[in-house]
Amino acid sequence: MSEIERESMEFDVVIVGGGPAGLSAACRVMQLAEAAGTEISVCLVEKGSEIGAHILSGAVVEPRALNELFPDWENMGAPLTNPVTVDEVFYLPNGTNHIRTPNLLIPKATHNDGNYATSLANLCRWLGEQAEALGVNVFPGFAASEVLYDDNGAICGIATGDMGVGLDGTAKSTFAPGYELRAKYTLFAEGCRGHLGKQLIEKFNLTQNSGTQHYAIGFKELWDIDPANHVPGKVVHTMGWPGNHFGGLFTGSYLYHLENNQVSVGLIVDLSYSNPHVSPFDEYQRYNQRYKHHPLISQVLTGGKRVSYGARAIVKGGLAALPELAVPGGLLIGDDAGFLNMTKIKGSHTAMKSGMLAAEAVSEALLAGSPGGETLSTFQSKFDNSWLHEELRQARNSQQAIHKFGAVMGAGFIWADQLLKGNLPFTFSDPTPDHATLKPADACKKIDYPKPDGKLSFDKLSSVFLSNTNHEEDQPCHLQLKDPSIPIDVNLPKYDEPAQRYCPAGVYEVVEENGTSRFQINAQNCVHCKTCDIKDPSQNITWVVPEGTGGPNYPNM
Ligand SMILES: Cc1cc2nc3c(=O)[nH]c(=O)nc-3n(C[C@H](O)[C@H](O)[C@H](O)COP(=O)(O)OP(=O)(O)OC[C@H]3O[C@@H](n4cnc5c(N)ncnc54)[C@H](O)[C@@H]3O)c2cc1C
Ligand code: SF4
Repeated sequence: MSEIERESMEFDVVIVGGGPAGLSAACRVMQLAEAAGTEISVCLVEKGSEIGAHILSGAVVEPRALNELFPDWENMGAPLTNPVTVDEVFYLPNGTNHIRTPNLLIPKATHNDGNYATSLANLCRWLGEQAEALGVNVFPGFAASEVLYDDNGAICGIATGDMGVGLDGTAKSTFAPGYELRAKYTLFAEGCRGHLGKQLIEKFNLTQNSGTQHYAIGFKELWDIDPANHVPGKVVHTMGWPGNHFGGLFTGSYLYHLENNQVSVGLIVDLSYSNPHVSPFDEYQRYNQRYKHHPLISQVLTGGKRVSYGARAIVKGGLAALPELAVPGGLLIGDDAGFLNMTKIKGSHTAMKSGMLAAEAVSEALLAGSPGGETLSTFQSKFDNSWLHEELRQARNSQQAIHKFGAVMGAGFIWADQLLKGNLPFTFSDPTPDHATLKPADACKKIDYPKPDGKLSFDKLSSVFLSNTNHEEDQPCHLQLKDPSIPIDVNLPKYDEPAQRYCPAGVYEVVEENGTSRFQINAQNCVHCKTCDIKDPSQNITWVVPEGTGGPNYPNM
């Protein structure tokens, strides 16, 4: 297999990932080339079967970056047609009560005036159309599996994965080699915990001066609801229950009224939890089941039908955890770097802006005749002088405060900190990575999760079914174990193998056979959330790209 000849194509810029970051970068490069009266060739690869197929987000979108990218977006038909009309935050002391948080106590940064409740996947589909209209070569169904380096060690593009390789690594009759997409500059926009981005961070030691990165897992369901219960543009957030109020497990939820009598409902579970018996999926189902008794939710969902399900990791370390952004020939953008603003629970506008700033750095270099392969530190200086930096600076203590003080005191701190626009003269840090927080299973309380009721709460397999996830089964497993013995020999006795519970798609099982335990990986169910790569306590699981088009096929998620 190693001697396979790959077809090679040359571009000025290759972009990995068709999310808001990658697509905005692609559009911006083309706009700048056009303004300069020249041509820059850009290629964007997306592992989903189409642009948007792997995008999962709330989403309330702040249009600030879009206003800059396409000032005329309204007339151009961007799918931001559902302005936020009602914006409410509740504190849940338990599974049955709720307390409305007065507006005065809600940090201004989290207000949603001027924002839109929409489908980020559909916004990406629209951005994809704009990119193609501007001349970008958009290749959906192609997963970037490898970074290419030139003789000087600079990045010179990527290789897409081979298709038609069997489980045993040999070529099948359907074998088609991947392509080498060579470029002067390569932008990595794979989203949270990008597979190639992670390699670059390690190889170039990009976090040597950064704080520790932290993550959450976000669940989302789309529901068709009774039109009588629908309030277009209504946005509801909660904090508190089912998480703990003073530490251990932090959760927050959202319910957004979209268009066409749909709502998006989800729970975000911080991955710094310490009890290995926690199942984020079951916390979400418990939230669904119990939360229906809250009038503000029961009156919305009852009588409705769940139409889609998915989950995705969220990068939440903010400014302090950002890595160095530039390497020779390459830049990290969007959630691949970690530009999400967790105070706002928003990363789409920050991803877009980071992509646009990177596009400016790359275009300026190319227009000045750069042969490629340079370390474009201009991206860092553009970021340092942008509203994006100021926004993330103001938000820098939010998540760290929740980790430090718990949900209730942390929220109080965030309120005071935001009142002072993030100007308190210190920056918190939480140096313990999320994979290192688990305590031994026998030192923690087992959790007896209620059975799903099949009406508002559901099991994993029927949920994964609604994500339309599909992978060619006869291919090398894309969930690689550095040491195959660790799940049973280390993780099972010590942590009751938490992969069985943190995976939102039931991929990992411990199967008892003839008195022995076996670790089973149902890779075809994987929804590409990346939680296993983040939370495995032994850091033994590496998520790599499967064949292109494999994974979920999300509709308007
Ligand atoms: C549950 C949840 C709720 C959220 N709510 C909101 C919200 O209300 N508002 C908001 O602004 N933000 C929200 N966010 C965050 C927001 O979705 C992200 O910050 C944003 O999508 C990041 O954009 P991105 O382009 O960096 O990455 P992504 O949107 O993750 O896009 C990355 C793309 O790259 C592709 N890709 C990855 N690796 C490869 C590869 N090797 N080869 C080819 N393609 C690849 C992926 O398939 C994907 O399409 C939410 C996130 C979650 C999970
Ligand atoms: S296998 Fe990993 S990436 Fe896939 S769904 Fe499960 S936790 Fe997420």
